[in-house]
Amino acid sequence: MSIKDNILYFDEQLRPTPCRLVAVSKTHPVTAIKEAYDAGHRLFGENKVQELIDKYALLPHDIAWHLIGHLQTNKVKYIAEFIDMIQSVDSLKLLKEINKRAEMFGRTLPINCMLQIAIADEETKYGMSCDEAEALLQSEEYRGMKYIRITGVMGIATNTEDEQKLRGEFRTLRACFTRLKETFFFANGDFKEISMGMSADWELALEEGSTMIRVGSGIFGARDYSK
Ligand SMILES: *Cc1c(COP(=O)(O)O)cnc(C)c1O
Repeated sequence: MSIKDNILYFDEQLRPTPCRLVAVSKTHPVTAIKEAYDAGHRLFGENKVQELIDKYALLPHDIAWHLIGHLQTNKVKYIAEFIDMIQSVDSLKLLKEINKRAEMFGRTLPINCMLQIAIADEETKYGMSCDEAEALLQSEEYRGMKYIRITGVMGIATNTEDEQKLRGEFRTLRACFTRLKETFFFANGDFKEISMGMSADWELALEEGSTMIRVGSGIFGARDYSK
């Protein structure tokens, strides 16, 4: 299937649901992104800052870019002007920097941020515990931030075919979402996203309440890291 066919396939699958698709274009060329764009898609995800800014410069500016990979504080300044969503916020320190840079660039809209929650068992993966996310939201510093908007939580499940394990991790993320929603965002409609599910497990994630799936190889084909 072509990239266009894949986009149309996901459009159809997600149409009856409240879930949106982030087309993860990392490692793929701008020509591939353009193909998805021409099929009507406008929401793309990248995991590296340099690659993201190179692609941003070459593609139409009505694309909504989501950063989905780990972000170092010293690189926030390169994306703060244009980024639509940073899905990978994993510390108060990073959030402070995002808020500061958004203010400096005089953005008219706040930067949308998701709190990345660790749900997989690999200890190398980034993300906070739900307790840490709660502490962040409770802090005075967070409450003073005017240029960011927390829109939900993001999680990366274990790379496994074990369906029960995957469902368990997705439920953990959803439970964290519900807890934070009830504690901090009860009357705040901005906090509504649960970003979970990738090419191999998006159908399970959708069943478990995902509002945003992040699909790369399922749209653009396998990634070639040797280039
Ligand atoms: C690469 C990546 C994806 C997409 O992975 P696929 O298996 O190719 O769909 C989703 N989320 C994150 C955080 C990623 O880094």
